[in-house]
Amino acid sequence: MESGKKSREMFQRAKNCLAYGVTSNYRYWGDNKSLVLKEGKGAYIWDQDDNKYLDYRLGFGPVILGHGYPSVIEKVTEALSMGNVFAMTHEYEIQAAEKIKKLTGVDLVRYANSGTEATMHAIRIARAFTGRNKIIKFEGTYHGMHDCVMWSNWPPFEAVGLRNSPVPIPQGSGIPQAISDLVILVPFNDEELLEQKVKANWGDVACIIMEPVMGNCGSIMPKDGYLEFVRSICDQYGIVLIFDEVKTGFRIARGGAQEYFNLQADLVTYAKAAGNGFPIAAIGGKKEIMSGLVHGQIVQGGTYTGNAVATAAACATLNEIENGALDRVIAHGAKLKTGINKILQENGIPGYVQGPDAMPAIILSEKENILEFRDMADTDEDTYASIIWKLMEKGVMPDTGVHEPWFISASHTDSDADFALGAFEEALKEVIE
Ligand code: PLP
Repeated sequence: MESGKKSREMFQRAKNCLAYGVTSNYRYWGDNKSLVLKEGKGAYIWDQDDNKYLDYRLGFGPVILGHGYPSVIEKVTEALSMGNVFAMTHEYEIQAAEKIKKLTGVDLVRYANSGTEATMHAIRIARAFTGRNKIIKFEGTYHGMHDCVMWSNWPPFEAVGLRNSPVPIPQGSGIPQAISDLVILVPFNDEELLEQKVKANWGDVACIIMEPVMGNCGSIMPKDGYLEFVRSICDQYGIVLIFDEVKTGFRIARGGAQEYFNLQADLVTYAKAAGNGFPIAAIGGKKEIMSGLVHGQIVQGGTYTGNAVATAAACATLNEIENGALDRVIAHGAKLKTGINKILQENGIPGYVQGPDAMPAIILSEKENILEFRDMADTDEDTYASIIWKLMEKGVMPDTGVHEPWFISASHTDSDADFALGAFEEALKEVIE
C-alpha cells in the first residue's frame, strides 16, 4: 500500500523537522508508505487523503474505548478548567488510584507518564526492596525504552545463541554493554530453565519482570500452571515478581492479567488502556514493597506524574471499564478469532489465532504450539505482512508486525467485525492466489 499524495507531502515536511519523520522508530513504514493522520473517531481513523480505516492498532493498544470517547473527553475538559499540573496531590489522582486498587487488588499506587517510566521505576523499587541488582527477563518481551530492559526484545533469530544461554542483544546502539551483566534472559514457558537460572543466581536477582501474556510477541499465552510456578519460585527465593501489564492491564479483564489468571504479582505496571490514550501509567504493588517510597529511601516521581488531565482521563476510562465496556471489547475479539480461524482453515492456510479475546494475534505457522519467542521463527512474517498491507487498502488497519496483536476498542461494533472478516478473507485470497 502506498500512502496518498497529501500524506506523502506532509511526511516529507515531517522529515525536515522530525528525525526520520516520526516520533518513535516503530512508526516509520517507509517514505512512501508512512501515513499522516488527520483524525480519529470511535473505531475509525482517517489519513490526510481522507482514507478511512477501521483501527485495530489503536495507537499500539491504549485506545480501549475508542477515539475521542465522549465520557473521557467530558472528564478531561472538566479537569482542564481547574488547571493541569500542580505537583501536589488532588482529587482526580486519588479517585483514579482508588479505582486502580479496586479493579486490580494492588495495595498502593504511584503514577508515571508512560509504560517505560513505570517499568523503570518498578525495577528500581524491586532492587531497593531486595538489595539485589540483577533482573530476569524473557526473550521476546518488551518493557519500554530504558536501558535496563532493551535487551532481546525482538532479536535476529540467527544471533540469539543457545536456549540455555541466550545472548543478550541490545535493541540498537547506545545501550551500554555493561548493563547486560545485570540481565538474565530466559525463554518463556520453560520451568526447568527458569529454575536453573534462579538457583544459580538468586542472591543477585531482584526481580523477574514479565508480560504475563506476551503482548509484544504474538500474544503467546502462559502454559497452564506456568505463572503459578513463577510466583512460587519468586516466593521461595525472595525475588520480586513484576507483572508488566502495560498491554494486558484493564484490557484482558477488568483487573488485567492478575484477574484473568487469578494470581497476584508483587508489583504491577500499567499504562496504555488506563487512560484511553492520555499519557498515564501506574505502578501498583504490595504495601510492604511500595512502603519504601518515602523521602530518603526509594525515589520515584516526575514533574508531570499524576497531572489532572491524565488522571481525569483514567477516572473516566476505568469507570467505563468497570461498567461494561470490556464486555464489548471481548465479544468483538471472540468473533474475530472464530472468524479468522475459519477463514484460515477454509483456505488451507496453516495458522491460528492465539491470545486473549481483547488482544488476539494471528500466527501463520505449521507449528501448533507457540510457547516462546524462538517459536516465532517458524511464523510466516512476510505473508502476514502482505495480507495486512492488502487489508489496509480495504480500510482495515491492524499492525503489520506478527508480534503485535490486534487491539479492539469498545467502539468496534458487530458490523465492524463482519466488515473486517470479509476484508481479511479477500486480502488473504489476493495474497495466496
Ligand atoms: N511494557 C509493555 C508490555 C509494552 O507493550 C510497552 C509499550 O508497548 C511498554 C512497556 C512501554 O510503554 P510506553 O510506550 O508507554 O513507554
